[in-house]
Amino acid sequence: METKYVYFFGGGTADGKAELKDILGGKGANLAEMSRMGIPVPPGFTITSEVCNFYFYNNKSYLKELEHQIEENLAKIEKIMGAKFGDEGNPLLLSVRSGARISMPGMMDTILNVGLNENTVRGLAKSTSNERFAYDSYRRFIQMYGKIVMGMQGEVFEKLLEDEKERKGLTLDTELSADGLKNLIERMKNEIKEVTGKECPSDPYMQLWGAISAVFQSWNTPRAIAYRKANDIPPEWGTAVNIQTMVFGNMGSRSGAGVVFSRDPSTGEKKLFGEFMCNAQGEDIVAGIRTPQPISDLAELMPQCYQELSDISQRLERHFKDLQDIEFTIQDGKLWILQTRVGKRTAQAGVKIAIDMVREKLISRKEALHYIAPEDIEQLLHPTLDPAAEKEVIATGLPASPGVASGKIIFDPEELAQLARVGGDNFILVRNKTSADDFPGIRAAAGVLTTTGGITSHAAVVTRGMGKTCIVGASGISISDVREEFIVGDRIFRKGDYITLDGTEGEVLSGKLPVIAPRPGRDFEELLVWTDLAKRLKVMANADTPQDAKLARDFGAEGVGLCRTEHMFFQPDRIDHFRRVIIAEESGAKEKALEELLLIQRTDFGQIFAQMEGLPVTIRLLDPPLHEFLPPPHAEDELKALSQRLGIPFGKLREKVAELHESNPMLGHRGCRLGITSPEIYQIQVRAVIEAACELSKKGVRVFPEIMLPLIAHVEELKFLRELVVNTCEKVKMEKEAEGLAYKVGIMIELPRAALIADELAKFADFFSFGTNDLTQMALGISRDDAGTFMPSYLKREILRLDPFISLDEKGVGELIKIAVERGRKTKPDLKIGVCGEHGGDPKSIEFFHKVDLDYVSCSPYRVPVARLTAARIALEPKA
Ligand code: PEP
Ligand code: MG
Repeated sequence: METKYVYFFGGGTADGKAELKDILGGKGANLAEMSRMGIPVPPGFTITSEVCNFYFYNNKSYLKELEHQIEENLAKIEKIMGAKFGDEGNPLLLSVRSGARISMPGMMDTILNVGLNENTVRGLAKSTSNERFAYDSYRRFIQMYGKIVMGMQGEVFEKLLEDEKERKGLTLDTELSADGLKNLIERMKNEIKEVTGKECPSDPYMQLWGAISAVFQSWNTPRAIAYRKANDIPPEWGTAVNIQTMVFGNMGSRSGAGVVFSRDPSTGEKKLFGEFMCNAQGEDIVAGIRTPQPISDLAELMPQCYQELSDISQRLERHFKDLQDIEFTIQDGKLWILQTRVGKRTAQAGVKIAIDMVREKLISRKEALHYIAPEDIEQLLHPTLDPAAEKEVIATGLPASPGVASGKIIFDPEELAQLARVGGDNFILVRNKTSADDFPGIRAAAGVLTTTGGITSHAAVVTRGMGKTCIVGASGISISDVREEFIVGDRIFRKGDYITLDGTEGEVLSGKLPVIAPRPGRDFEELLVWTDLAKRLKVMANADTPQDAKLARDFGAEGVGLCRTEHMFFQPDRIDHFRRVIIAEESGAKEKALEELLLIQRTDFGQIFAQMEGLPVTIRLLDPPLHEFLPPPHAEDELKALSQRLGIPFGKLREKVAELHESNPMLGHRGCRLGITSPEIYQIQVRAVIEAACELSKKGVRVFPEIMLPLIAHVEELKFLRELVVNTCEKVKMEKEAEGLAYKVGIMIELPRAALIADELAKFADFFSFGTNDLTQMALGISRDDAGTFMPSYLKREILRLDPFISLDEKGVGELIKIAVERGRKTKPDLKIGVCGEHGGDPKSIEFFHKVDLDYVSCSPYRVPVARLTAARIALEPKA
């Protein structure tokens, strides 16, 4: 049997269904599902994404069988609609749209009114008794086809349109008469011929094939590629093409088009939410050219349509068990649904919707965990405006995406993307409207402000998805791109001036204003508690101070997975004590400095233990090379000042600094090597840990200290240091009469050799913690500090798809981890193993850590909720 490449939908039936998203794309699969449900969708068919792949792999050609499959399905549409494609009396017109597995808003192309030519346009005029409408549709077709299929510049057509209006002394497009439009069409066609050397095809079938190819090609435009990369969409997914009967929202006052959400996507409130425009096509809304009306107005204008739309929205939500984003068109009083998809929402709304749907018994608690993406959780932790701030509201607009962002005004998205690459500041993109081409600029901006458009316009949808602050439709602002400034009232703001956007209130504020840390709220906490129903991985935190530890615990951390002790030394009032430890040679001075260190560290550890009562606290002994604590050899003034403060002769200090200089410190005298050459430092650190633990334990506070040795490469290093640590611990316990205190001694796996000899190391370690920052550095031979010089080129050229310091290199570093887990557990089956590198907070990497059976991940406090949710979601996935 011949492979099926074309799936029909319409008239209450469909070949496809929702589960076939992989080949029909999101739009096609849902159109099929809606048709099965008896929802009024204009009949049509979907060409599968397999055809897209074939097209690109075979030099932009098609499979033989595609042609007759399309013809067969076209005949089915014609039968339902009682109109014929290319018929001069009653022509069927088609829309040709893209539809990938995951929605890529505005990234790919659409061609409308396919099938119109100089003959069929007359048929359309007759069958609709509306000549002006017919020629306006034809004008739109020529414009779209010319731009998208034939590669014309869109502005050329805009200019011709403006010229025609000017000649007739008109201001609005809608004032152009049928004759004016006929004129314009001729001029547009001539322009196409002149520029491309080709005619805009009249043959409807040629138009259809041209449109299909253009949609496939839009999968591989630079902007679509940029979007796919940013959203991790693999190139081999391809797009499907949906070919559907045209319905018209621009047929008069009983027509219109709009977008609704089954609940408010900004707040999560349960009510029909959205907007529409009378006498307009859907594209007019998305483009944000005119500002639409709220959907509640439809209830007055066309109550029946409003009721039907509201019912359908509820049905779709119950059917798909999720927030729906629905596109509709009303043609002469009849409602048509053009698309439904899962609605993008703010993290806040995501949490509320999930919790509400559990309460409405629509979904289970475990299912609720899939209603908010782990990446979005960070949105909830975004700052808000400090209420004490003196704010000067310069304009208001629609609150399209919440949060507060301050930055310098930039009008050109490309320039913004470039400036952001250099770094050092935040930028706000200010435009009349945004389009898909602006994506790199939007992504790089701290916030986006537009002067036109509604809450479903491009800027709003894209920023909401990214969790980026955005205000749209701030119509009081008038932009002059030429002068690179905007005027609001009697004020002028120039490129580079600071403004602040309050995306929650829709307020544009003058200057750079103070913000306060976010409080995620009760619903959020409840959702996070549910993660414990599912997750297997424990989530710990990297916390160096008692404040970090408290924050982490508030976010649900199950202990501290990494306390970088040296961070305690860097505070200005402490650093000199440690410098004395490094430099002092006469034993008295060194001992005194060590004693000071003991006091400082003991207090800090005690406070961290208290914050994490009942949970493990993993303390890593000194790791960085010692020179990091001293001024560089060339900083004479700093060295002189230091020599005075420490009472050490300048010459001696300079000598010491020179002696500590290393040409490659990351591979030098650091990590456990310091413990071997300066055991007194490790001893004093261990003493501080155990003394603090003993003191608290005596007071009845449950403490679980775990001492961690960094950068172990050899089993002999571990044996030596374990003995040193254990001896110190036991000694302190005796002194403090706290023999019952339990502690663990473990190691970081940060070197490939350590991973390979994990079976030997496990004999002397109570736990392993992968330091994936160093392990990545060491395995890839990429310096953590210098990767920035070439990593952007690597990513741009796709030599690497993801930065391995952000998302774990599973093939290489991941393999080392797998080996270490397997070998370590061969020696000690119950060996506790976790990860404390940055990857511990990265959702994709957490999936990997779950799969290779680690016991915990440890990450920065703000990422603890992200990690909890990821860990729960991955645990709920069916095992492969
Ligand atoms: C690591 O190397 O992954 C790690 C956690 O240690 P640091 O980042 O302090 O080197
Ligand atoms: Mg490290």
